[in-house]
Amino acid sequence: MTKPVLLETGPMMALITSQLAEAFTVHTLPDAGPARDAMLAKVAPDVVALCTGGHTGVKSDAAMLARFPKLRVIGNFGVGYDSIDVVTAAKRGIIVTNTPDVLSEEVADTALGLLLNTVREFGRAENYLRSGAWATQGDYQLTRGSLRDRTLGMVGMGRIGQAIAKRVAAFGVPVVYFSRSKKADVAFPYYSNLVEMAKAVDTLMVITPGGPETKNMINAEVLSALGKRGVLINVARGTVVDEPALMAALRNGTIEAAGLDVFWNEPNINPEWLSVPNVTLLPHVGSASIHTRNGMGQLTADNLVAYAKGAVPKTPVAETPFKGW
Ligand code: NAP
Repeated sequence: MTKPVLLETGPMMALITSQLAEAFTVHTLPDAGPARDAMLAKVAPDVVALCTGGHTGVKSDAAMLARFPKLRVIGNFGVGYDSIDVVTAAKRGIIVTNTPDVLSEEVADTALGLLLNTVREFGRAENYLRSGAWATQGDYQLTRGSLRDRTLGMVGMGRIGQAIAKRVAAFGVPVVYFSRSKKADVAFPYYSNLVEMAKAVDTLMVITPGGPETKNMINAEVLSALGKRGVLINVARGTVVDEPALMAALRNGTIEAAGLDVFWNEPNINPEWLSVPNVTLLPHVGSASIHTRNGMGQLTADNLVAYAKGAVPKTPVAETPFKGW
């Protein structure tokens, strides 16, 4: 029996590709260029399944999806699926799956590391030691920031947000949160208005999905409400923060500091970031350990292989109309 055709929109982990190859005829899209266009033109009419992820840089927007008339399922490597037009996919009855839960604790660990580094300047303190300055110039300066006198406002209180909030609360730091709806199983105080919460706290941790609904949600008004002692941590998506407004707020002292794991136009981020002193920068490493990426890879493969076998994919996204066979 001929296997259904699957297209990887960029290189995937060997763990994923080897398992997909048992259930599908797999093609992997090369990086941009004539070979990529040629492969797309050749295989697109037969593609039943896509395996994709934000890291491939390929957006499954309406125009891209229109190239695949037989497409039935999209397996996304990652919990965030803002690079996929889920509305168009749902209209066509295409199942979209992602990788929730398996990365929540790792991303929460990263968020805590980024928060601590931003507030206590560990990166800069290590550079100070490595440069030899400790012996010649004395102790590293006392940090202006501390977690000891802070209140954290979570922007987003889903799976990862709750894992972060649990850690922050264990550090003895008060936590409140903002999202579109109050969570019945979350005891932290809730704000229905982001600016009001920003006024009430001095630290924001952003962990919502990306996409049009959250675009530039952290804007000049929110940063101004956060105030001079303000610290902003973004582990969500670059698009959630108005970058020019944040850069201006950091340079002119509207807020104190920021820690960013995600950016506009990754990996070609605005080079101006490199000259902003009061920002801690990470190259989108929220879930990037071998342990967690293997878990995400396995779930990605499980979802797609389940489809090929006529079984129910484990983790379809909320927008997918699929309710089982
Ligand atoms: P989740 O369980 O779906 O939680 C999303 C949270 O955001 C919910 O609290 C949701 O509450 C809130 N939210 C959604 N839309 C909102 C809006 N328009 N305004 C305000 N709040 C909104 O998702 P998750 O598993 O925690 O993952 C969250 C996101 O983290 C992912 O989508 C991804 O973008 C990001 N992420 C980043 C990394 C990294 O490497 N840095 C790794 C993994 C995930 P309401 O629905 O009530 O608003």
